[in-house]
Order: sequence, then structure tokens, then C-alpha cells
Amino acid sequence: APIPSFRAILPLPDNLISQIAAGEVVERPSAVVKELLENALDAGANQITVRLEQGGIKRISITDNGRGIAPEQLPLALARHATSKITSLYDLENVATLGFRGEALASIASVSQMTFTSRTAEAPHASEIDGSTLVVTPSSGAQGSTVNVQDLYFNTPARRKFLKSDQTEYGHCAEVVRRIALSRPDVAFSLTHNGKTVDHWMVTESAKRSASILGTEFAEARLALDESAGPLRLHGFVGLPTASKARGDAQYFYVNGRFVRDKVLMHAVRAAYQDVLHGDRFPSYVLALDLDPALVDVNVHPSKIEVRFRDSRSIHQFIYHAVNRALALTSATSFGTTP
Ligand code: ADP
Ligand code: MG
Repeated sequence: APIPSFRAILPLPDNLISQIAAGEVVERPSAVVKELLENALDAGANQITVRLEQGGIKRISITDNGRGIAPEQLPLALARHATSKITSLYDLENVATLGFRGEALASIASVSQMTFTSRTAEAPHASEIDGSTLVVTPSSGAQGSTVNVQDLYFNTPARRKFLKSDQTEYGHCAEVVRRIALSRPDVAFSLTHNGKTVDHWMVTESAKRSASILGTEFAEARLALDESAGPLRLHGFVGLPTASKARGDAQYFYVNGRFVRDKVLMHAVRAAYQDVLHGDRFPSYVLALDLDPALVDVNVHPSKIEVRFRDSRSIHQFIYHAVNRALALTSATSFGTTP
């Protein structure tokens, strides 16, 4: 067809903007689970229930006991670029919450059948907002929030086609829950799939949480690590060579509580393992780097899985030495590789 010679420039309709953003923020059910879990944690919840149906494609329902949203604020919670977490560039550069972009709920609502039910401590009863009409009605329930996301991508069939089998999508969702549960042993989580409780973790300490999520194999062959240098602190567990794997699927790295996949961090750990691990094996670890938020930019990618450090060289060195020291202690005792 011939290209029209003239087309007026028009602003995009609001809902279409959200659907476009949804392509980046919620590319599959597990991304919805991640966004909703992060919201629950940002709301101060210490008990979170995740219910999935058909791998999350049919339904994702997350209930938390956090501070909730006042009824008059519910429409704003679903509005694009509306957030309670930052108000200035200064806040953005020092952000301590997991969310700050104010677009997840709007994006999810634009590609699913969503309801958000919430109750604050002050409210006499819960209120529910419908994601498509934005009508708020009285509801019932305890303090906290329940987000119900049904029929993901029902109105964007092109995206829906990219979803894999229920089982595959479920696997991604469960991995997201594990990742977050690993980083927050102070929060109880439960996960059900198609009505069956798959996992349930009570409030505990990090050693026990990681043991129950990563299994006894890891729990019995790991070293605790906790080192600080100036504004940097690295803590968590590094697996001994006997806990290494043929695939790198037990590598969990968090920066200020956020799960990340970062080349600098992964490289530093890998380098630290070089002397104790053969090239084709992958170390297992759960490590958390805490640092002044001003030293790391988390606003690199909409899903925030990537970060950028202001001084990645010093971060690399710090991590390399901390992990190396921990491993050197054992190789001196149980592996006999020191001269
Ligand atoms: P962001 O998390 O980036 O602020 P969202 O679209 O995810 O953006 O959420 C918008 C706002 O809705 C949040 O800033 C928060 O105030 C509120 N909110 C979302 N989920 C919850 C929840 N589970 N409990 C309490 N408030 C919530
Ligand atoms: Mg959010």
C-alpha cells in the first residue's frame, strides 16, 4: 500500500501509552508477580500470599498486610506516573524503595482484568477499584491490599501469543517468588498454584530461609560472609566448591535489597572462585551488597534488574576480595590447596 503523504501528529491515548509501557514492564506473568511483590514490600507488609492459576496467565492474586491505600487515593495508584515513593530528582538519586516509576499498576491494568482492594488502618472498611472503569466501591477485608490480575493480555492478543506453556510461566513466577523470599527472611510468604499450596515460608533468619529455598545441599556446604569497607557492606552465603552446579541457576545477588543480574558483580564473584572451582562449574551464592543509594543508579531499565555503579572498579575489588578471603579460609582448612 502506498505510504500516505500526510498524517497528522496526535497525542497517544492514555490507555495505549500504558499498553506500550506494559511491553517493557510486564512482559510475562512473572513480571507482574515481581511488581506486585515489590509493592507489597514497599508497603511494609510482613505477610504475603501469592495465588496463581494456570501459570499466572489466568490469574495472579497477591494479598499483603501492608499499610494499604486510602479509598480516595486508589484512582491515583492506578494512574500512570503517579507514585508515593519519590517527589524529586534528589529522592530518585537516593531511592530506598523497590518501586519509584509509578507505572506498574497502570501498565498491568491496561493489559488485564484487574481489581485492587485495599484497607488502611484508619479506614472503617476496605475499598475496591476496578482497573478498567476506575470506579471505587466499598468492599470487605483486613488491613492491607489484594491485587487480583485476571486474563493477562486478554486485550493484546499479539502479546499473549508470546506466552509459553502454563508450566513454563509458572516456573518463572515461582523463581521470582523465591528470589524475593530469599532477600526478605523477615517476611512470611506463601505460594499456591491452581489451588494447591506449593511453598510456605515463615518469618525466620537468613540462614534458615536460604537453606529452605536452596536446599540442604547448599545449606551444608556454604560459608557465611559479612564484610564492610567504608560505605559498602557485603553479606550472605557463598557455596563451597561441593555446592557448585553445572548451571548457574543458584546465583542470587542483591543490591540494596533488589535482585540484580550485573556483569561487574558476577565477574567479581567468578574471579574470586577461580582457584577453587573448575572452569565448567558455577558457584552457588546468595549475596547482598548494601551501599549508599547515591552510589548506584537503579534507573537503568524499566524492570530494574540492571544497575549502574558510580565506581564499578572499587565495587569489583571489594567483592572479589571479600569472597576470595572467605573461600581462602576454607581452602586452607578443608581443601589443602594452600602451600
Ligand atoms: P511505584 O511502585 O513505582 O510507586 P506502582 O504503579 O507499582 O508504582 O504503584 C503506585 C502506587 O500505589 C505506589 O506508589 C503506592 O503508593 C501504591 N501501592 C501499590 N501497591 C500497593 C500495596 N500493595 N500496598 C500499598 N500501596 C500500594
Ligand atoms: Mg511498584
